[in-house]
Amino acid sequence: MPECIFCKIVRGTLQSTKLYEDEHMIAFLDSRPITKGHTLIIPKKHTEMLVELEDNLVGDMLITAKKIGKALRKSKLNCRGINYVLADGAEAGQNIFHVHMHVIPRYRGDGFGLRMPEREEEGEDEKTLERTAIKIRKFLE
Ligand SMILES: [Zn+2]
Repeated sequence: MPECIFCKIVRGTLQSTKLYEDEHMIAFLDSRPITKGHTLIIPKKHTEMLVELEDNLVGDMLITAKKIGKALRKSKLNCRGINYVLADGAEAGQNIFHVHMHVIPRYRGDGFGLRMPEREEEGEDEKTLERTAIKIRKFLE
């Protein structure tokens, strides 16, 4: 099995343009940015999915994303907003199976957007929502 490209970045065997690094996290510029300043945050420890990541590292990842977001807002890139995106699993669009958070600065007319499908105006009734909630609640730890 070929080595994970994010693990290569962690080890330094693959070049990256790092913005930030601490004991557990690295933030680097995406080499194929969606917008100027598009950054990826990864834990140094190889972990495939968010649910497998230790709680303290989940916290560290979001704190790192916040740091990057702050810097982007102060920078001369003049972004007007930021999308924080984490694709968890192939169905969600994850294509590198080492958990990562995208920090995507947004600019007027940048052409990027999160597409939500059309939804019915009335939504689901309380009973339907409750049946869904029951299926999920029993697995909450
Ligand atoms: Zn990896």
